Amino acid sequence: MFRHLNKSILVTGGAGFLGSHLCERLIEMGHDVICVDNFYTGTKENVAHLRDHPRFELIRHDVCFPLYIEVEEIYNLACPASPIHYQHDPVQTTKTSVHGAINMLGLAKRVGAKILQASTSEVYGDPEIHPQDESYWGRVNPTGLRACYDEGKRCAETLFFDYYRQHGLKIKVARIFNTYGPRMHPKDGRVVSNFITQALSEAPVTMFGDGTQTRSFCYVDDLIDGLIRLMDSPDDVIGPVNLGNPGEFTMLQLAQLILEMTGSRSELVFEPLPSDDPVQRQPDISLARQMLEWSPSIELAEGLGFTIAYFREMLENQGFGN
Ligand code: NAD
Ligand code: UDP
Repeated sequence: MFRHLNKSILVTGGAGFLGSHLCERLIEMGHDVICVDNFYTGTKENVAHLRDHPRFELIRHDVCFPLYIEVEEIYNLACPASPIHYQHDPVQTTKTSVHGAINMLGLAKRVGAKILQASTSEVYGDPEIHPQDESYWGRVNPTGLRACYDEGKRCAETLFFDYYRQHGLKIKVARIFNTYGPRMHPKDGRVVSNFITQALSEAPVTMFGDGTQTRSFCYVDDLIDGLIRLMDSPDDVIGPVNLGNPGEFTMLQLAQLILEMTGSRSELVFEPLPSDDPVQRQPDISLARQMLEWSPSIELAEGLGFTIAYFREMLENQGFGN
């Protein structure tokens, strides 16, 4: 029997940084893509190049409310991801993760769709084990400033697994580690975009704490490849699966590399470390290697090159805004 390869796919948060790259890749693969976003942190410009494509549809919608459409797969990415954005309206952040998961799981159940959750390394909190593998339950402060995001995402994982056990849904849970690249919002406060925009405009580079805390940075193209491999994996691969680049760097090393690559004379200014800021973070990606045959291929310097070029062009054309 003829089996069509083209699928109808919903991407929530599709006008955001990761979502827009995912929509683009899925369109290139020949799928029909419905992008749902309330433009809280994402923008129409991020998907402007897809707008006139016959297999692309953009819907303004808040995932905290039910959605009635017909799709075969759902990538649930809707949620602000940078600390300043998710802490701006923390109640809304928890609602987006929890009510958003309930509504998208309800949709998946009604139409029999497979559904993938964009979870996060933040479920590990400030970890006691290093690197973090998926068996680690995490160390999250449930009442701290990051809790709206961390606990919201943890609860969403719980909902995914309960819909799987209770209703037999086809689920996939990806735990995404720090990802960077073009289309990050220049003002969203994440470290890569902050350091690059500061370096390019010769402004002070804001180092929080003493800069010895570590993160592991994955380039967006690698991450999108991992998400699609997870969605396309056999039904018994449900995760959670870590997706990230194990290359680990201190924030001081990151700043130095960006200053070198931009040729900037910006100076470092040291500011207080935000509360509950994890000391170290590095994914153990053995499971992704084994189950998805996936590992990132773009090293930090190469990915930063693409990202610096993107922000340099933005600075020349429109600036970074106020
Ligand atoms: P982003 O802020 O650029 O994108 C999030 C998108 O969700 C935005 O377009 C925003 O407008 C939309 N959104 C927010 N609330 C919504 C709501 N209630 N209804 C509909 N749309 C809503 O962030 P991103 O970096 O692209 O992150 C995408 C997803 O990946 C998030 O779920 C995030 O938690 C997860 N994630 C990202 C990273 C990373 O490093 N980028 C790491 C871990 C997890
Ligand atoms: N950070 C920094 N300067 C900045 C922004 C962030 O030193 O201008 C630090 C931040 O304190 C954290 C790390 O960089 O230790 C990564 O921050 P980001 O917000 O990008 O991601 P997350 O903390 O969620 O991993």
